[in-house]
Amino acid sequence: MFMKKSSNYSNNSQHKEATSEKQAPLSRVESHQKQTTGTARRTQTTNRQVSKKKPTHRKYLFSLMTLLTIVIIATGGYIAFTLKQQEALAREKYEAAAEKLLASIQEEQVKEGIPAKLETLSNGDKKELIFRPKEESTIPVKDASKKLSTMANKLCKKHTDKETVTVARIEAQAVASKVSTYSLKADSYVWNRETGRFEDADSVVADPIFISEKTGNELSLKDLVPDEGSLLGIQQVIQQKILDQAKEPDKVIDAVLAMDRITYESKFTYDPEKLTIQLPQNQTGVSEITLAYKEIAPFIDPELVNADQLKEQQSTLDQNKKYVALTFDDGPNDTTTLDLLKILKDNDVKATFFELGQMVDRYPEVSRKVHEEGHEIASHSYSHPQLNTLSPEDVKAEITKTDKAIYQATGVLPKNLRPPYGAIDQQSAQAAGKSIIQWSVDTEDWKLKDPNKILKVVQNNVYDGSIILLHDIHPKSVQAVPGIIQTLKAQGYEFVTVDQLLNGNQKPMYQYFGATDERSVS
Ligand SMILES: [Zn+2]
Repeated sequence: MFMKKSSNYSNNSQHKEATSEKQAPLSRVESHQKQTTGTARRTQTTNRQVSKKKPTHRKYLFSLMTLLTIVIIATGGYIAFTLKQQEALAREKYEAAAEKLLASIQEEQVKEGIPAKLETLSNGDKKELIFRPKEESTIPVKDASKKLSTMANKLCKKHTDKETVTVARIEAQAVASKVSTYSLKADSYVWNRETGRFEDADSVVADPIFISEKTGNELSLKDLVPDEGSLLGIQQVIQQKILDQAKEPDKVIDAVLAMDRITYESKFTYDPEKLTIQLPQNQTGVSEITLAYKEIAPFIDPELVNADQLKEQQSTLDQNKKYVALTFDDGPNDTTTLDLLKILKDNDVKATFFELGQMVDRYPEVSRKVHEEGHEIASHSYSHPQLNTLSPEDVKAEITKTDKAIYQATGVLPKNLRPPYGAIDQQSAQAAGKSIIQWSVDTEDWKLKDPNKILKVVQNNVYDGSIILLHDIHPKSVQAVPGIIQTLKAQGYEFVTVDQLLNGNQKPMYQYFGATDERSVS
């Protein structure tokens, strides 16, 4: 497709030469006139002097004068001719250099891969070369052709008295596997007759536009962040980041938790390396936030960003090993939770605690200890209601109060939520805005109240990637833990937190029953 351009170019170059020939002779005629006028004036003066001499010598003198006039005219003519020739030579050199410059730019343009037709406007010293898109409709920049002309004209007028080549074109560049940036660019090159080179004079670039090759349209936040769960996931990262950056986080925690959420209508600035989002009006003192893609990797379409940014997000779990996550609900308290912490520490096992906000408020120091000993703290609501029976406002209040309690105890907002009784629907999941963690093995420990029976349930139901449900508020449940750990270790299992088991890839609006059991909330 692009090959046609060269024939376009040669056609246009003819047009260009034709125009320059029309123009150039004009200036040559002018300079010739100047020369001739000068000679005529000199001839008049000499004639007046001659008329004073004796008449006998008149004829002789007249011949001499005629000869002199001829010589002067001839000399003048010769000088004019030489100047003209020099000018023509200089012009030729400029023309040739312009051709060469054009050829190299055209070569670059072929590499860009945008089919273009070249339009050359030549007005003597001034040349404007515009690479117009061959098919305007295939270029995602609106009115590209018109904008290119305007840019070139503006630039061209800057150097009125110089030989200048102005080039306007569209630059396309792949910045991610499925994103290209298009920008309109105009450059002017001023010819320096002394050095015989073009000097880069000016450059104008219009705002780059990022195009998703998946849609052919300008990249939207919806392209980049493919679903509502991902948007909610980013919201959580934003909240934690504002707190991490705050000088006095205790003063902004309420404002952070009360923030309106970002939406697909939020203004954003795309960069292949990072994303900047304008936040809805809020009381945190932060109006926009920039996130590296590795901070929000699970929530971003990887084909639309620089892949290097996501590398760190790769799995930390070994494909050849077996993993299981122990989870403990309804704590913390200052008796059985502390007993459990000791057991876990002695066995070098990390677990996940789904804590109730009201218990955290009562035993913040226990929560802090759980966190400091490397376990994950997640939310189990504030007062243990059935979330799917509450209004979205009440769900949010349950979540927010728990977030605040856990943050104040540990400095970290919980990422995950286990709804009491596992009860959740779309509306409550949306209001909660956290990943929903269910379980694969229900030990019914609260009912069995027998360490051996609890162990038996685990033994009969455990599998690689399973999430085991227990409660750290029941003494018999805690007593069951050493046996569970020893038995599973003997079977080759390693213990990880829920966040590790899911590799940090979990998203709000989805519920997780195990490492490989992900379901959308419906
Ligand atoms: Zn519970």
